[in-house]
Amino acid sequence: MDLRWLLTSMRGSIERMAFPGLIDEEDTWWEKDPFHILVATVLSQRTRDLNTYHASSELFQRFNTPEEMSEASIEELESLVRPVGFYRAKAKAIKEIARLVVENGGVPRDIDEMTRWPMVGRKTANCVMTYAFKEPAICVDTHVHRISNRLGIVSCATPDETEMALRKVFPKALWCEINGTMVRFGQKICLPRNPRCSQCPVRKECAYPDKK
Ligand code: SF4
Repeated sequence: MDLRWLLTSMRGSIERMAFPGLIDEEDTWWEKDPFHILVATVLSQRTRDLNTYHASSELFQRFNTPEEMSEASIEELESLVRPVGFYRAKAKAIKEIARLVVENGGVPRDIDEMTRWPMVGRKTANCVMTYAFKEPAICVDTHVHRISNRLGIVSCATPDETEMALRKVFPKALWCEINGTMVRFGQKICLPRNPRCSQCPVRKECAYPDKK
């Protein structure tokens, strides 16, 4: 399969669609540096875009630097990030992340090092590599995992396995396009349940046995 064509076709099918309630990182007001992107990505875990946006916005308006955030009280952090799921655990994690950023002089430009930090798994670390450091990385969330496996590009049981398999299949030049493309495609066409295969531009190439 021509993978550049695949991503371009997916983007083409959704480019005129509206995404109410969905907010892209580039549409947010805060700085797009590794610290802000890491904190916002931790807040986004298992949370709707709009709630992530409100919580991040409140948080960064009050504490916009790692120094300020590391010295904030847990109670205040909890109240600022309350719109997101698991806000108590996330408040604790972002305080510690802020402290580590101060101690290290920045966010590590390395996935393995980043994943030693609280609430930072491979998905979050890859997001930071892609969107903050602009390094080739593949951020595999539930959409990327589902679509890659349905298409038959990979055959993997977990998102982490899918990430490793996609690294072998896609040329590095395309890695950073995969997440942004497949997430929106998965929200509009290749839905988790009842995918809209009749509207899918890559249907002929798809190995999904239940496509209609
Ligand atoms: S044909 Fe259906 S299952 Fe396959 S990628 Fe398109 S929408 Fe998803």
